[in-house]
Amino acid sequence: MSKIMKIAFEEHFMTPGFQEYSKSFLGLIDSDVAQKITQRLSDFDDERLKLMDAHDIELTVLSQTGPGVQGETDTARAIERARYSNDFLADRISAHKGRLGGFAVLPMQDPKAASEELERAVTQLGLKGALVNGHTGGTYYDAPQYDVFWERLQALDVPFYLHPTDAKTQPFSFADHPEMQGATWGWGVETASHALRLLFGGVFDRFPNIKIVLGHMGEGLPYLRWRFDSRFAVYHHGIKLARKPSEYLGSNIVITTSGVCSHPALIGAIGELGEDAVMFSIDYPYESTEEACTFIETAPLDDATRRKVCRDNAARLFKL
Ligand code: ZN
Repeated sequence: MSKIMKIAFEEHFMTPGFQEYSKSFLGLIDSDVAQKITQRLSDFDDERLKLMDAHDIELTVLSQTGPGVQGETDTARAIERARYSNDFLADRISAHKGRLGGFAVLPMQDPKAASEELERAVTQLGLKGALVNGHTGGTYYDAPQYDVFWERLQALDVPFYLHPTDAKTQPFSFADHPEMQGATWGWGVETASHALRLLFGGVFDRFPNIKIVLGHMGEGLPYLRWRFDSRFAVYHHGIKLARKPSEYLGSNIVITTSGVCSHPALIGAIGELGEDAVMFSIDYPYESTEEACTFIETAPLDDATRRKVCRDNAARLFKL
């Protein structure tokens, strides 16, 4: 079998000093597993590249693990630490040009500062877009003050990866069920809801060329496209959109396979969103590179579709 080359871009690292933000969720994981994850998050030159070589991953785009500066309560400090983290990442990946790329951390506490940092990260540091770990202090980015940010993102023509985080307060329906929090279920609901706020909030009508990337096979949204159209049309909410809700999914909202190694789910997502809107990723080091690569290499896809999902769609997104 010929090599199936891949691009992966929900792949995480940890900036020194950012451990304080991640304490709460790393604390939920068994301590020996958490220790291994922490070690892998700070590796840029060793095991990460070996795994890429072993599994035919030509490019990995790195992002700060959650929640990063989205967990910072002081706006001035968030701005300063985002700059520090982006400079740190640019420096660490510079030794591996062509193999490692990066997404910017953004201080969304201040939409104008976030726009400026995005522009600096893309035009001066060569980063490929941004990955933001969900809401910032309970503020979602459909709020009008973020239009200045979306305008800049659209002008720079780079993707915005909306990555999960905890809800500001846990939903009442999770009461007495801590196992439903975090990556098992809670993050997906939270992140899908944030993406729908952008969609129904008209962000894609105001900025029709922006691309939001969702991980984890689209956080469940591909499977409900039909229902969004059907039920949006019957409620009295007074919201007018330029297109049907389903039409933003697969165009403005594209997805990766990170953390969902299921062939039926992949086929369903491609069926709903189209073969140009689904892209491979792993979610390293939380998920297994070997398992994710075997999953995509053995998926029941024709060669042309597999090539698109594994690398060509991402190459187009990143203008490689
Ligand atoms: Zn992730």
